[in-house]
Amino acid sequence: MERVAVVGAGIIGLSTAFALQRRGAEVVLLESGSPGGGQSAGQGRIFRHAHADPRLVAQVVRSRALWRAWETELGVELVARDGAVAIGDGVPDKLAALAPFPDAPARELTSAELHERLPLLADYDGPAMLDEHGGAIRTRAAIEALTARLGDSLVVDHVLAVRRRADGDIEVRTGTGARTFDQVVLCAGRRTAALAGALGLELPVDLGAHVRLTFARVDGGSAGLPTFQDGSGEFGETGVYASPYPGSQRYAVGLAGHTPARPDGAVADPEELAALAERTVAYARLALPGLRPDPLDHVHCWVTALPWGEDGVGVWHDDGVTAVAGHNLFKQAPVLGEALATTALTGDVPDDWHHSARLGRDD
Ligand SMILES: Cc1cc2nc3c(=O)[nH]c(=O)nc-3n(C[C@H](O)[C@H](O)[C@H](O)COP(=O)(O)OP(=O)(O)OC[C@H]3O[C@@H](n4cnc5c(N)ncnc54)[C@H](O)[C@@H]3O)c2cc1C
Repeated sequence: MERVAVVGAGIIGLSTAFALQRRGAEVVLLESGSPGGGQSAGQGRIFRHAHADPRLVAQVVRSRALWRAWETELGVELVARDGAVAIGDGVPDKLAALAPFPDAPARELTSAELHERLPLLADYDGPAMLDEHGGAIRTRAAIEALTARLGDSLVVDHVLAVRRRADGDIEVRTGTGARTFDQVVLCAGRRTAALAGALGLELPVDLGAHVRLTFARVDGGSAGLPTFQDGSGEFGETGVYASPYPGSQRYAVGLAGHTPARPDGAVADPEELAALAERTVAYARLALPGLRPDPLDHVHCWVTALPWGEDGVGVWHDDGVTAVAGHNLFKQAPVLGEALATTALTGDVPDDWHHSARLGRDD
């Protein structure tokens, strides 16, 4: 039986460990904090199919089928059925990108349909669309269900170093010990590039910090809400995303940008992070009058982007060590976990996911 260590219990490490466990591997999932406490923190992420790279659209279609299979297996809703709405001049391109994928139905929305689905929104009559099988990912439910399923395979311990030994085993040194494995998969979020770099795998990760704010609905209603992307510029910003909390009484809103980190890993300009939060509040006041204007909370997270695109993702593998990096990975976690499990068990990175394929590229 293959002995595999997975480092990091965010959504990607949990998905990878789950896939490995189901394929009969002996898995240890090492997490220094609480599962889902890193980039996977907070309630809700957008599940959407539209991406510039058609290979990523195809992977996301597969991922949605796996999310649905997990719902049956884990007994909990993981992607809400309220759809993903987008507005702005990019709508025709998004619809064109989805046209070849019958399993990702999408259509234009009239202004009346848009406001019926998203009554929080201010007046707007520009281009709008609905990704019918998109919706809010129930992030906490996913983290909790996978954590419970992995049981004793999840070990709370900090990984300091990973080393290839002369006998071919991979040694993992943690806060409380040293253990050997046949394979190691690095899913440590912002720490992956550092751990991989020490093993000769250079990941071109651009580290930044991001902020997202949560607002309450004015009407206190609980009717389901779609996720939302605004590229219109009508309300002063061109890259906005938003997602409802479970129960749809709260809506999380963020601007697509992030503020860079210094080489030592600190936020380079804390003022810029605060300014991003202020711009988000200003946007919500203008665009989403159905929300109370004062934010209820902030989610601050690291962003680990690759140079080929906002949705870029890649897998690196060499001699028993696999590493993954990218941004906006929550939606494809089930299919990416399968790809990482395949890499660890066969030594081959499935085609699309190899970093040289630049999956999720913008051009
Ligand atoms: C605000 C925000 C909004 C987002 N919106 C979307 C969206 O709408 N749709 C979407 O698909 N994606 C979205 N994303 C991106 C998505 O959330 C992330 O890509 C995804 O959660 C990354 O998961 P991960 O498992 O790779 O990393 P993480 O969740 O960061 O997990 C890494 C884990 O490794 C652990 N770790 C690190 N170092 C060590 C060590 N040395 N030893 C042991 N453990 C270690 C950490 O504690 C952490 O728990 C968003 C991200 C943010 C921040």
